[in-house]
Amino acid sequence: MLQTETSPMPRPFPLSVEQLTELANEFPTPFYLYDEAGIRQTCQELNQAFQWADGFRNYFAVKALPNPHILNIVHDEGMGADCSSKAELFLSETVGLTGEQVMFTSNNTPIEEYTAAKALGAILNLDDISHIDFIHEQIGLPELVSFRYNPGAAREGNVIIGNPEEAKYGFTESQLFDGYRRLKELGVQRYALHTMVASNELDGSFFVETARMLFDLVARIHNELDIQIEFINLGGGIGIPYRPEDQPIDLAKLGVAVHELYNSMIASTGLDPLRIVMENGRMVTGPHGYLVTRCLHHKSIYRDYVGVDACMANLMRPGMYGAYHHITVPGRKDEPWDRVVDVVGSLCENNDKFAIQRELPAIQRDDLLVIHDAGAHGHAMGFQYNGKTRSAEFLLQTDGSIKQIRRAETQDDLFATLDFSEFR
Ligand SMILES: *Cc1c(COP(=O)(O)O)cnc(C)c1O
Repeated sequence: MLQTETSPMPRPFPLSVEQLTELANEFPTPFYLYDEAGIRQTCQELNQAFQWADGFRNYFAVKALPNPHILNIVHDEGMGADCSSKAELFLSETVGLTGEQVMFTSNNTPIEEYTAAKALGAILNLDDISHIDFIHEQIGLPELVSFRYNPGAAREGNVIIGNPEEAKYGFTESQLFDGYRRLKELGVQRYALHTMVASNELDGSFFVETARMLFDLVARIHNELDIQIEFINLGGGIGIPYRPEDQPIDLAKLGVAVHELYNSMIASTGLDPLRIVMENGRMVTGPHGYLVTRCLHHKSIYRDYVGVDACMANLMRPGMYGAYHHITVPGRKDEPWDRVVDVVGSLCENNDKFAIQRELPAIQRDDLLVIHDAGAHGHAMGFQYNGKTRSAEFLLQTDGSIKQIRRAETQDDLFATLDFSEFR
């Protein structure tokens, strides 16, 4: 049904129409804008929810928003970094995230990357049992080793991460026991346990069940192998309300529920202290990032189209997963949402659409559109297909000023790796 009221606004865009217009007049669209105050607030809410858990830390998944200016903010809020490549380790080190403030959760990992992670003192979170001896033989194991558990048929996943049984990640349950036994033989002294079975999950009980599963494993590993697990890592995957009708996870409630389980399964059975950590990316920055784009054209054929100057190369999620991103038109806040359009980019791919059959106000050429909740897995997934260059990133700082934290790519950047010498 068509909506005739004014725009639903899940999260108010943090700039006034005047400020947005000024920014878009100074810098070419499209660009990303991140809201520092929002990011800090979310960090604080998550930390607050697990304040009861001594040594709780969220390792921000760097891949969600790999920009040192953002890492610096989350570091300042007490978060660590979750890295899966050498480049991400480098970015973390740049802002002073080293040692056990860094979790290295990789898979199919080349030895150079383990070497870099070990040199930084990062926690190695192994994805496969064969990597124990691989690391032992090539570079030696560190004193603390974590394993990634894949529960297989024991747990159901969701669309983004898939069914655990079909997922390439982690150890089976029996491999976990064999793996810890092997670590012990090889003289490793400190042990940890990780799993990641959900992505963009909005049901808080999913994480409570994950905690239950890991607490239970910690107890069985202790009983069978006489090994004390030092911490469990509940993974990332806390979802965000992309759709106006979605409800965010109640973090405080999640914290309380995990606390109750901790008391009954760990504290009262003498398995404490057991630290709890997570590695969320999306929930930290996702809601606080916006892709700003301008209307270039209108087109009416079998459907009506609004063509914008951003495309799937700037934000791949809608094209790749059919993901919903809310769109608003700040300059037309008070107009009725009485049009139904597809909002499209200019790639030669028909899935280059930010919205399909979406109710929006009437949009004119040069209007600025804001694509919401683009602060995680947004710019980071950008690509250069069709000769597209990646956009700039701006940070709205807590004092209200705006800082460019990445410049836009130029055509020279695009062609920097080509050799034109034969053609000149
Ligand atoms: C991607 C990823 C994360 C972060 O996921 P979010 O959905 O951004 O919270 C955490 N851990 C691992 C191993 C990942 O691959």
